[in-house]
Amino acid sequence: MKANTKAYLKQIPELAKAARHEEVFWLNDRKLPEFMQTGRPISEAQLAAAEQRFLRFAPYLAEVFPETRAAGGLIESPLKEIGRMKHFLAEYGGEPVEGRLFLKMDSHLPIAGSIKARGGIYEVLKHAEELAVQAGILREGDDYRILAGQEAREFFNRYTVQVGSTGNLGMSIGIMSAKLGFRVIVHMSADAKQWKKDLLRRRGVTVLEYPEDYCAAVEEGRRNSAADPTSYFVDDENSVDLFLGYSVAGKRLQAQLAAQKIKVDEEHPLFVYLPCGIGGAPGGVAYGLKEVYGDAVHCFFTEPAEACCMLVGMVTGEHDGVCVQDFGISGKTEADGLAVGRPSGFVGKVIDERLSGICTIQDEKLYDLMRGLMKSENIFIEPSACAAFAAMLHLDVLREYCKKQGLGGRMDRIVHVAWATGGSMAPAEEAETYLKK
Ligand SMILES: *Cc1c(COP(=O)(O)O)cnc(C)c1O
Repeated sequence: MKANTKAYLKQIPELAKAARHEEVFWLNDRKLPEFMQTGRPISEAQLAAAEQRFLRFAPYLAEVFPETRAAGGLIESPLKEIGRMKHFLAEYGGEPVEGRLFLKMDSHLPIAGSIKARGGIYEVLKHAEELAVQAGILREGDDYRILAGQEAREFFNRYTVQVGSTGNLGMSIGIMSAKLGFRVIVHMSADAKQWKKDLLRRRGVTVLEYPEDYCAAVEEGRRNSAADPTSYFVDDENSVDLFLGYSVAGKRLQAQLAAQKIKVDEEHPLFVYLPCGIGGAPGGVAYGLKEVYGDAVHCFFTEPAEACCMLVGMVTGEHDGVCVQDFGISGKTEADGLAVGRPSGFVGKVIDERLSGICTIQDEKLYDLMRGLMKSENIFIEPSACAAFAAMLHLDVLREYCKKQGLGGRMDRIVHVAWATGGSMAPAEEAETYLKK
C-alpha cells in the first residue's frame, strides 16, 4: 500500500466504505454553479467542430451503413419513457421514484451497439479525414461518399489503427476502421466477452488477447503502435477526440427532449445517470449536456462497486495517480464495459466542478435490473448499462442532494434519464445466458 493510502481512508468516509466493498453514493462538494466555474477546458469551437465533422461524414455513413440511412447518416439512438420500469424500480428498491423516467438507448446505437459508437467512431473518422486531406484524396467541399470508393480504401489499407479495449471500444474502432479499409489491431483485456472478439475477427480485425486487465492491454497497444510509423493509436486513457465525439450527445439529447415537448429548466431539472468506466464516455456526454443546459442539468456517474475508479480518483483528487487496487478493491466485475481500475488522466479534472456525484452498485443487482427492464419494457441492455439505475436505489441520498441544491420541493418535476450504454449487438443466446444469471 502507498504511504498516503491509509490517510485517505481515514479522511474520506465514502472511500473507506468503498474499500469495505459496500455501495457508495458520493456527492461532489466541489461542484460549482456555472457562473463560478473556473473556465472551459473544452472550448465551444471544439464542440462545434465535432458536430460539423459528424455532419460532413453523414452522407458517407448513410452509404456504407444502411442502418443509419433513416436518420440521414447520423449515429443516434431513441429516447424512450419507461414508466413500467419506474414501477419495477419502486418495488425493487422499496420506494417510489418521483418524476418521469426515460431511457437513452445508446445500447441501440447503429454500427457498434454501444455508447462507443459516439466517441470511437468520431476519432476514427477524424483520423481518416486528416490522412485523406493530406494525401489530396479529399478536398474541402467534396462529397464524403468518395471515401467508400476503391482508391480511398486502398489508400487507407496502407495504415493501421490500434486500440486497447475491454470490448466495446474495440468493437466501435474495429468496425469503423475496417469499413474504411484500415488494417486494425484490437488489444483485448481478459474481461472482453468472446462474442465481441469473434464478431471483430469475422470483419477482418486482428484481435490480440491479454490475460491481464485493461491497463495492460492499453499499454501493449500503445507500445506496438509507437513502433510503426503508419500506425495510429486510439488512446482511451487520454484522448480528447474520443471525449469530443461523446460530447455531441448533449445537443442531440436537447433536440430529442424538445421534440417530445419535455421542458428542462431550473424549475424542471434534468437528472442524467451515466455508467462510467475510464470516464471518457460519461465525461464527454456530461460536458456536452452542461454546455447545453448549464445548472438545469445534474449529471451522476455510476460504477460497479468493485471497479469504482472514477470515485477513488475524484474523492482523493489524485485522478489517474490512484487505482482501485491501491485501496484493496479488486477491479473485477461482470460489467465488462466498466471493468477499469484506473480513471482517465484528464476527464476527472475536466468535470470536477460539473459532476453532481458518483453512485456505485453491486454486480448481482445489475442482473436483477437487467431482468426487470426486460420484463417491464421488453428491452435488453447489457449488465454494464444497467448501472444507469444505481442511483434510483439510493433515493435517500438523491433527496439529500435535491435539498442541498434547493430542489427539495420539486422532485416530482425531475426528468430522470438513465443512459443505457450497450447491449443490442449481443447475440440472442448471449442475452439468454445473461438473463438467466
Ligand atoms: C465503455 C462503456 C462505458 C463507459 O465508458 P468509459 O469511457 O469507459 O467511461 C459504459 N457502458 C458501456 C457498455 C461501455 O462499453
